[in-house]
Amino acid sequence: MKSHRQYLWFNTPNRRDYINITPAVEQELQNSGITEGLCLVNAMHITASVYINDEESGLLQDYDEWLEKLAPHEPISRYRHNRTGEDNGDAHHKRQIMGREVVVAVTDGQLDLGPWEQIFYGEFDGRRRKRVMVKIIGE
Ligand code: ZN
Repeated sequence: MKSHRQYLWFNTPNRRDYINITPAVEQELQNSGITEGLCLVNAMHITASVYINDEESGLLQDYDEWLEKLAPHEPISRYRHNRTGEDNGDAHHKRQIMGREVVVAVTDGQLDLGPWEQIFYGEFDGRRRKRVMVKIIGE
């Protein structure tokens, strides 16, 4: 069995951002030389997500508004977590809803995604360097 691991680094200009990382994951699959197996993609931080859904700007805005309704950033005092001196209580909740990781089958050297499926990095406490792990195993 072969295995390939790589980090994708991000430093988003905004507190919250949604980035389509499918091309970067496909590049890692190519680099791996693996044609049959599994590809794990996970956020290495507890205030960011990796998820799969549609690349459609309306939907990305809808997600952002929905998440902000569920777990508003302000007032910062609404989260006990922020008593530690942090201000990212909302980001922990947003990450929990949007998830930590995705696993995609690798078939014939391609990510075996559904017709509209794309892999996204969801950032909820950005403006600093954070990373995503891509780990591919197979043959
Ligand atoms: Zn925190």
